[in-house]
Amino acid sequence: MTFPSSEPAPSSADATDAPDVMDVCIVGAGLAGSSAAFVLGRAGYRVMVVDPRIVCAPCFKAEKIEPDQAHTLRELGLFDAVHATAQRIHVEVTGRNGMATGSRVIEQYGIHYHDMVNSVRQEAEAVAKIITGRVVAIQASDHLQNVELSDGRCISARLVILACGSIGSKLHANLGLRKRVVSEHHSMSYGFSIERSSGEPFPFEALTYAPSRLDQPIAYLTLFNRKDGMRANLFAYQPPTDPDVRRYLADPITELNRQMPGLDVLCGEVRLTSHVEVFSIDLFVTENVERPGLVLIGDAFQSVCPSTGTGLSKVLTDVDVLCRACIPAWLNTPGMGAAKITQFYFNARKQAVDSHSLGSAITMRRTATDRSAKFRVFRARQYVARWLGSLL
Ligand SMILES: Cc1cc2nc3c(=O)[nH]c(=O)nc-3n(C[C@H](O)[C@H](O)[C@H](O)COP(=O)(O)OP(=O)(O)OC[C@H]3O[C@@H](n4cnc5c(N)ncnc54)[C@H](O)[C@@H]3O)c2cc1C
Repeated sequence: MTFPSSEPAPSSADATDAPDVMDVCIVGAGLAGSSAAFVLGRAGYRVMVVDPRIVCAPCFKAEKIEPDQAHTLRELGLFDAVHATAQRIHVEVTGRNGMATGSRVIEQYGIHYHDMVNSVRQEAEAVAKIITGRVVAIQASDHLQNVELSDGRCISARLVILACGSIGSKLHANLGLRKRVVSEHHSMSYGFSIERSSGEPFPFEALTYAPSRLDQPIAYLTLFNRKDGMRANLFAYQPPTDPDVRRYLADPITELNRQMPGLDVLCGEVRLTSHVEVFSIDLFVTENVERPGLVLIGDAFQSVCPSTGTGLSKVLTDVDVLCRACIPAWLNTPGMGAAKITQFYFNARKQAVDSHSLGSAITMRRTATDRSAKFRVFRARQYVARWLGSLL
């Protein structure tokens, strides 16, 4: 397989300079893989990306961009592309028990995940080669990596980035990557669109609404504008078999009014304008990753609880650290041994973002569900803090 020759790759002292050998092969063109392809391709490396789908199809994943994520998108040179399909949110209101408890000026964006990925893919396509295919095997070594597709095609590269999303895929198993379960059935996420029955616009751009009681198994409800109207994301701590799951799926508005009274005071009467999407999250970390020739990023390395709003922070930090700091140095000297790959997993910035994501997922769940004395006291303190906050 040959890659249309474009810019010469930056100085590569390795013996793997044959024209059909890529500098980097990326498995998966979700946000992680597409962003990595753009950053590396723009820097002049020969990059090949493989994904089974020519475009990212509509799916229920991240629907809101947080301020730190907008910042990293700017750093990576991807903000303008993503911004074109996003709805800017300037002020976020917080509420509980039928009352607005505060508001803050913020830079957030409501977006469809597939729009975000497809905008980034379009940018990547200008500087990297994206092909349609499913990777079934990877033979990794200290020097040259071979990536095998289900139709028999083969790609050779100096480095493979595994950005294939959810841990636990067949590919993970084939590669002997171990899945360490941190929290099974950690949370449920619901996504649906709403409008006011009166037809009037909502009196806010975004509302984060907390449960009335701190011992309810609910993280929060977030309502936010996207270009096509008001979107709702509800994050709760239930196993998929919980009877509440069926109730939310059948009629989320009635169930929300039952579980989170007073919402109608802030929103008025609302009706559903889409089907209800639901996603059950298990928290995992992939182990046995320190090996030659292969590096994992995004959800392929560590899953995320959506209630923390840290999934895109993790993805974009991985891309920033790996593609702007690690890979240029790695490709500058021969070989791709495990010692190089390990530098990425031990990068202090990456580790801080990963552990914040995992830590806040666990604390948020325990705050809502843990019945021990320690968390009763913790909840009581939070209740008082919120009550005092609402008086200010
Ligand atoms: C319901 C839900 C809500 C969320 N909400 C938020 C939020 O509000 N804020 C936030 O920051 N994060 C949120 N997240 C997390 C965020 O969406 C993810 O962290 C992020 O999308 C992960 O991106 P990724 O590129 O690693 O994986 P993905 O987007 O899953 O991309 C993986 C890609 O790999 C491809 N692939 C898979 N197998 C192969 C193979 N064998 N060969 C080739 N290609 C393959 C797939 O087709 C896909 O395109 C949410 C997640 C969910 C599930």
